[in-house]
Amino acid sequence: MSNSASSQVNQADQKPPPPDPTCEDLKKKNTEQRDQVARNLRAREDELNQEERLTLEKAEGTRMTFSSIFSTIPGAGGTMTACSSGCAQACSPNELQVGGTSEMKMGLKKDIRESTDPAYDDAKDKAGVLCDSSYVHPGGGKGAHAEPKLLNQLSNDSPDSPMRGGKILLSIDWRFNKGGKQDSSGMPCQSCYKMLCHAAKKCDIKVFICDKDGNEQPFPEDCENPTSYSDLSTRVDGYPQPGRNPQ
Ligand SMILES: [Zn+2]
Repeated sequence: MSNSASSQVNQADQKPPPPDPTCEDLKKKNTEQRDQVARNLRAREDELNQEERLTLEKAEGTRMTFSSIFSTIPGAGGTMTACSSGCAQACSPNELQVGGTSEMKMGLKKDIRESTDPAYDDAKDKAGVLCDSSYVHPGGGKGAHAEPKLLNQLSNDSPDSPMRGGKILLSIDWRFNKGGKQDSSGMPCQSCYKMLCHAAKKCDIKVFICDKDGNEQPFPEDCENPTSYSDLSTRVDGYPQPGRNPQ
């Protein structure tokens, strides 16, 4: 083999891995998936049932969140997208994550989460996500928001991962109505914020949230402090309360 041939082989071997996804890449995934759900439903507009009709309305309007994550948690790395709507997920089953098990999504009532009775250990273990299955979502559906679905899925897909350490970058596309106007935000809701605070504080995961300009905003160090939510919102959306329209 000539010298030049061998150096070509070496160069091919040393091809750098693809770069980590950026906020721009994750935002694009959210937009593509939202458009895809709307397109799939529009394609059979005449045969939609009531739930699907409402899902189409939400996908094209407000009250539906798409979130994408890039994770470097050891043993649970990767990029994925989830949607707050189960009906939307059923529309794009290959692209959108189910969001872990139904126990994880359902969560548990506060008195059970806080009880030390070993009778609940099994239920807590089944519903638990993140490090040592230590976080259980509140009962009533908040564990099925888009961001919990991503962490549920990572926990469920990676039973051998400690779900501890590494970094997560989240791009959130939350759309809602405020004062009769449509608004959007890159913020997690207060409940999902609590889960991310647990990930940061108890599981040593470095958490970053994409802001409106496509920059990575570090999660507040003092996320247990009640004022820290509005500090993050100011950095992510430009206002102390989630939303990007003038307040
Ligand atoms: Zn939420």
